[in-house]
Amino acid sequence: MNNLNYLVESVERLKADGVYRKLPINYGACKNVIDLNHLQVVNLSSNNYLGLANHPRLIQAALDATQKYGVGVGSVRTIVGNQDLLEELEKVLAEFKEEEAVTCFQSGLNCNIGTIQAIVNKGDLIISDELNHASIIDGIRLSRAQKAIYKHSDMADLENVLKEMRSSYQNVLIITDGVFSMDGDLAKLPEIVHLAKKYNALTYVDDAHGSGVLGRGGRGTVDHFGLNGEVDFIIGTLSKAIGVIGGYVASKKIVKEWLLHRARPLLFSTALPPAATAATIEAVKILMESDEYTKKLWENAKYFKEGLRKLGFDIGNSETPITPVIIGGEAKTMEFSRELLSEGVFVSGIVYPTVPLGRGRLRVMISASHTKKDLDFALQAFSKVGKRLNII
Ligand SMILES: *Cc1c(COP(=O)(O)O)cnc(C)c1O
Repeated sequence: MNNLNYLVESVERLKADGVYRKLPINYGACKNVIDLNHLQVVNLSSNNYLGLANHPRLIQAALDATQKYGVGVGSVRTIVGNQDLLEELEKVLAEFKEEEAVTCFQSGLNCNIGTIQAIVNKGDLIISDELNHASIIDGIRLSRAQKAIYKHSDMADLENVLKEMRSSYQNVLIITDGVFSMDGDLAKLPEIVHLAKKYNALTYVDDAHGSGVLGRGGRGTVDHFGLNGEVDFIIGTLSKAIGVIGGYVASKKIVKEWLLHRARPLLFSTALPPAATAATIEAVKILMESDEYTKKLWENAKYFKEGLRKLGFDIGNSETPITPVIIGGEAKTMEFSRELLSEGVFVSGIVYPTVPLGRGRLRVMISASHTKKDLDFALQAFSKVGKRLNII
């Protein structure tokens, strides 16, 4: 026990700093209204953009697959874990993304960690946006490449790095989120692709928050900009808009051939369970059949943003359904979140160090599953609490 005293001290420090927390418990499915810690609240904090996480067709597909294939695949993909369902999922996803090949991983985080490590080497350079997701940062750390950071979406800064450093490295990989998760802004992909061509660099876009949201029928940020076939590595997650779990790389065939031999999560970690794989196939089919859900998502997002703006809130520069409501101070932000909860609305507060000091915010995540009644109820709660705390 004494050996663990350093952890006791670390946890005490969290408590002293006021950042210690207990995980809230959701007693049911991830829906528009959830039973959180036994309180019925409107859920404005999930990544379940299209409401697919408990869609009857996905549930049925998971049940059917479980009957036929069992609950686990029993091995990594390179031994006997590569069930035909996984091959089918990769085929359907490639068709949906209109790219040559897709390689699936167990999660988006796994996908970034495994892919980045596999595709660069000592003597290569990775150039990364300063606001890229934590799993990209981890992937870069695990690789043996040199890294350089450019200022958020600052194309002049990116070009400076390329100009100064390109010639000293063999391969250069530019990595960006497609949609930045804290502010909801889009990467400047046309400019990034242009610079990559000019300086002979590779491009890597993590589109976790863009897939299922942007582009034709939710085909993603690359499709939104009409850049299909021009980005070398397009990463998507199956856990957000798709509503299940998993991650993937859409790319040329040769990338897949290499990843199947060198991506460590495929070699050393058991593959996705059949229920998840089958549910995901069903989700992609739904997206290919109709844009009903993506349309509803954008309708809801526009309605809610307009409502917040009319109330006088600062909602930043989001171009997506991610809606930051800037409160400012850290304590005030957390207080706002608690007050909303007491009004029956759950939105997590996000503060330093996840976002800059003094830019504390509530991060509202709109979903196609929200009804107009949910959104009006939430707007009313925002209005009440905003006035009570002198924000509006
Ligand atoms: C959420 C997220 C991930 C991780 O995806 P999971 O499937 O939840 O592991 C990776 N990259 C970005 C940009 C994300 O927002």
